[in-house]
Order: sequence, then C-alpha cells, then structure tokens
Amino acid sequence: MTDHPQDLTQSHSLTSPESFWSHQASQLHWHKKPTTALSKTTKTLPSGVSHDHWAWFPDGEISTCYNCIDRHVLAGRGDAPAILYDSPVTNKKETYTYARLLDEVEVFAGVLREEGVKKGDVVLVYMPMIPAALIGILAINRLGAIHAVVFGGFASGALAQRIEASKPVAILTASCGIEGSKGPIGYQGFVEEAIELSEDELPWRPIRRMDGQRKWQALVKSCRARGWRAECVPVKSTDGIYIIYTSGTTGLPKGVLREAGGHAVGLHLMISYLFGIQGPGDVMGCYSDIGWVVSHSYTLYGPFLTGAATVLYEGKPVGTPDASAFWRLAEEYKINTMFTAPTALRAIRKEDPDNVHISRVGERGGLKSLRALFLAGERSEPSIITMYQDLLTKHAAPNALVIDNWWSSESGSPISGIALAPHAGKDRANPSSSSSTVQPLKIKPGSAGKAMPGFDVRVVSDSGEPLPPNTMGNIVLGLPLAPTAFRTLWNDEERFYKGYLKRFNGKYIDTGDAGVIDEDGYIHIMARSDDIINVAAHRLSTGQLEQAITTHPDVTEACVVGIPDALKGQMPFAFVSTSHGVATTKEKREKLFQEIQTLVRKQVGAIASLGGMIEGKGMIPKTRSGKTLRRVLKELLENAVDGEVDKELNVPSTVEDVGVVEVARGKVRGYFEELGRERHGSIEGRERAKL
Ligand code: AMP
Repeated sequence: MTDHPQDLTQSHSLTSPESFWSHQASQLHWHKKPTTALSKTTKTLPSGVSHDHWAWFPDGEISTCYNCIDRHVLAGRGDAPAILYDSPVTNKKETYTYARLLDEVEVFAGVLREEGVKKGDVVLVYMPMIPAALIGILAINRLGAIHAVVFGGFASGALAQRIEASKPVAILTASCGIEGSKGPIGYQGFVEEAIELSEDELPWRPIRRMDGQRKWQALVKSCRARGWRAECVPVKSTDGIYIIYTSGTTGLPKGVLREAGGHAVGLHLMISYLFGIQGPGDVMGCYSDIGWVVSHSYTLYGPFLTGAATVLYEGKPVGTPDASAFWRLAEEYKINTMFTAPTALRAIRKEDPDNVHISRVGERGGLKSLRALFLAGERSEPSIITMYQDLLTKHAAPNALVIDNWWSSESGSPISGIALAPHAGKDRANPSSSSSTVQPLKIKPGSAGKAMPGFDVRVVSDSGEPLPPNTMGNIVLGLPLAPTAFRTLWNDEERFYKGYLKRFNGKYIDTGDAGVIDEDGYIHIMARSDDIINVAAHRLSTGQLEQAITTHPDVTEACVVGIPDALKGQMPFAFVSTSHGVATTKEKREKLFQEIQTLVRKQVGAIASLGGMIEGKGMIPKTRSGKTLRRVLKELLENAVDGEVDKELNVPSTVEDVGVVEVARGKVRGYFEELGRERHGSIEGRERAKL
C-alpha cells in the first residue's frame, strides 16, 4: 500500500465503511435519509445453514429515477444533454435533454401504472438499443417496480427461461431489432413464442397475454392527451430494483438481484472516481448492449446519476458500416470516457490491422476529448492494452489511459481498476479542487488494476488459506461486498449460498475467477477457475498462455484449453487466428507452431509446452457478451480424443453464432484425421497421450 489517493480511498472504505459510505450517500437525494450506512447480521436458510449477512443504508428510502432525472431538472439543468442516440442501422441520430427525458419517463410511467404495474412488480424488457429502452427502464424504476432486461439477441428459448424465472407482470418489447448489418429480427415473434413456451410450465398467468398486447405509442399518446403522468415512488434501500441474468458461460442463468440504495450510492461514486465522469458537460460512451450489466451501470444509471450525457449506440464495432465507428462516435460526441470489451477491439484490429481509422480521426484532432478507454468483460492481453495506449498517447487527451477493469453481473460495478480521478473518492463534491491534479496509479498491462472501494479482494488456496503475492489461486471477496454488489439471487437464497458462499464455508464469496495479486497489490485475472489447466500438478492459467501466444506478431486471437493427456493429466492446446489468414502448407503451419511454442516455453516455461495447435478463422465461439466459450472447445477436443468428434455439444443459449462451433468442429476433425495419418506412418509406439 502506498499513500496514493486510490490506496488511501481503498483503505478508508474497508477500515471505516460507515464513515466512507455515509459520506458517499450524502451526495444523493433520499426520500428518507438513512441513519446508518451498514448493518451486519446473520441469515439462516430454510436448510438450517447460517451465513453472514449485511445491508447497506438499511433504513433509507430512495428513488433512483428521481436521482437520475428529476433532481437535475429541478436544479435547472434540464437543457443538458442526457441521451445522445446514434443509430447507423436506421440512420437516425437524436439528442434527448434531461427535460425531455423527464417528460417521456413521467408519461410512460403513467402508461405502466394505468396498465397495472405496481411497486415491487417485475417488468421484463426485451428491446434493441433505442431511447425507448432507456425510457422504459427508467419508467419501471420510477414506479418502484423491478426491471429484468433480457438481451435482445436472445431467441425465444433463452427468453422463455428468463420469463419463467422472473415471472413478469408485463413485457416491454419492440416489433424488431436490427443487429449490425443483418436484417431486422422480429422481436415480437420471439416474445410470443417465448410466452407460449413458458405457458405450460408457469403457475402464474401474465396479466397481458397475446390478446393483451398494447401499442406503446398509442398508450403514450393517450396518457399525454389526458395529462396522465406518474411521480417517483421511493423504495426501501434494500428493495430490489432490477434482476439481471448472468451471461451463462456456465449452467442455467442466475438472476442477480440489485438493490436500490447501494446501487445508486456505489455507481454515483464509481462513475466519477473510476471513470472520471463528473457531471454535466461530460460524455460517456459505453458500447455494451443494455441487456448486460455493464450497460445497465454505465450507459444508463451511472452517467444519469451525475447529470452527464450518455451515448446510446445502436450499432456494432465493425460492419456498421466499418471499423471506424467507435472513433467516429468519439469525435462526433466528444466522448470523454469510452468503455468496451476487448473482443470489440480485437474485431476492429482484425478489420483494420494498421489502425488506419483511429489514426485518421486522431490526426485531425478528433480524439482530443478522450481521457480514457476502459476494457472489461474478459481478460485484456497486454498486447492490446499497449497497442491502444500508444494510439491514445499519440491522439487523445493528455495522459489518456487504457484501463482494464474486472467485474461481473454479481458485483454491479468494477471490483478492480485504476481510478481515473482518484481524488474523487474523498472530495467528490468538489472535483475541480486542486486535488484533481492527482495522477492515477501506474498502469500495468495484463493487470486489471487494484481493488475498488468496498471490495476486499483476496487470493486463497482451494482450502481457503491465504496465498502469498504472485501465487495463482482462487480470487475471493471478503464480506460484506461493496454496495453495488448482490446479496442474494432472485427468489433463490439456497442457490446463492451454494453457488457463492459454500465453497469457502461462508467466509468469502467465490468469484469463480482465478489469478494472482502481485507484490504491489495489482490484481491479475488469469482465467475462470474452471479454465485452470493442471499439467503434471502445475496449475497453469489459460490467460497466461494466451498472453504468451498473442505476443507473436502474426497472432490476432488465441484461445487455450486443456486436453486430456495420459502422462500429464492435461496439456494446453491452442486455437489461434493470424492476421494473414490460414497457413496454406504444412511447413508453414509447423513453422508457426514452433515459433509459438518457443514463445510459450520462454514466457511461461517448458512445463506449459503446447500439446497441439489449430490455426484458423472464425472458430473461437463467443457468448453474446463477447466472452470466449472455452468449455465448448474443450468438450469438442475431449470428444475428438475419444473418437467422437461428431457428438452433440453442450452449447449454451448465450452463444453468439453456432456456426462458429461447427467451423471449430470441422477444424478439429481435420486436425485429428491428419494426426491419425501421421501416427499411422511414423509415430510408432510413441506414447503421446491419447493423441
Ligand atoms: P458477467 O457476470 O457475465 O459480466 O461475467 C463476469 C466474468 O467476466 C468475470 O467473473 C470474469 O471471469 C470475466 N471478466 C470480466 N471483466 C474481466 C477483466 N477485466 N479481466 C478478466 N476477466 C474479466
């Protein structure tokens, strides 16, 4: 620990949570001010198990919608821009000021009230990235109801699962959504199908069946004509305001419940402290779909809590129309903080390997407002951080940074990162004071920064023992969690305990991630715990290996999984894509493999030598939110090793493109066929695992 403001803020938040969070809470409007920030108790589950429990601002009452909109308009800032909507897929651009946003939300909340939505009800939102989605969500919040936003790219099966789990009284949707350069996708049809699918299973009857469909615009028109609007309904600080389903790289989706008070206070701090967005005049550009937690927090609630503007982008990083989109937006809207997933930058790099687009915008001074590019969602390999850091240093605002930050649906905001405005933790009310000249902590590419206020991050062994610095282990969180984080799963206390607390006997929350904390307190997220490969009793992380592989100048993407090995238990196996397409001859493939093998041996160690490699394009499956589906490739390889390459795979409904899985299958089949031929000819008697 140093005496840098980020370290001091962190230590204050953990040693004196009451004073730290009371101060943060005082920055917001409360319908009933909390008398205490934190209360700690014990909870006993129906199964008889007890665990530590806590509550943030337990006796407070708050309306997040009021803090996001009404407060700014009442303070005379109604003319400030709130939503900067930009849609290359419909060729529309539109600005909503705070005054207009208030008007729209008040009226639409009136519509929902007239349709029977009450405080505590769940309303499901299945919408594209259009202003109506944000208006709908804020209107639900205005009534004290709970929203459950489902990513618009999900088809009816995944939607049905979420309808069954959240039991909404109403569903907000649009006739269609347009994803990238593909044609319109009929949302309405998916919703109807999903309701049909869930109908037989449901013990409840939704108040609006197909015959209960209502037209959004007609209802708004009618309420507006009658002057029918709804005021803010405050809720208890510990009441839920939304359910979000985790992205589902594993198992059935879990409904994470977000609570009112902690969410508002935590986000209000983080948007300025970590992201450097202080209020009116600042512009946030968070390129994530509203169906994901990142967008809930930093397209919607975070910027609005401070009165800043948010860019609502209905497009893709590439293809709408090309890889210049992000930089065009940064220039056009003078974005100060940009937030995306590393997978988006990889897609841009693939389309524009020489960075022609960003350089063109940068050279004409178009990126001068940009103070930071934040990356989250999965590990950012150092090569992508340093490449964009060099570009920002050249073209963006002075001292602009590329910042990796680590978080999850469960945490609600980053668990770690590098605070762009570290002074703001202490002196949030007066960001222009002299302390605002404090420089952020040093960036270490490959690390997701240091712990954020309220998160007590530790690395422990499988038996829960603390591990020394730089030792790979399970990353866990001490209790209580920070205010934005969850305390339970929607209607499933037992699953919360079993899924997160049981593994370490109720002492820590298991994040499911593995990595190290170094000697300076920097956190390095290396893999999901399930993705750790055990090679001859050495624990290797897939992230560490991918990091080494991507230092090869031709490699644009790498994905490493473990395959069974008769001698060592497991061996790492790599799937790689290169910038100049697939090697055409066996010699070229072999040369690339040897070069990569050398990098792995040098950077990680001989123990990590790859057991094989497949080179190709479009064969690494991702979830809709951009996370690599390693377990699918792993299953595919395991099947191939057993001679069952065509066996059906367990592909989660969150997969972005099932076609990619089939490309991978074809590649794996080809690899094993070639290997079989070779082995037949020459590798006689060689015990090279099952391979
Ligand atoms: P989700 O709840 O769907 O947002 O997924 C959360 C998971 O994404 C985390 O548990 C990590 O495995 C991964 N993740 C998010 N941000 C990062 C990051 N900056 N570095 C590495 N992994 C990340």
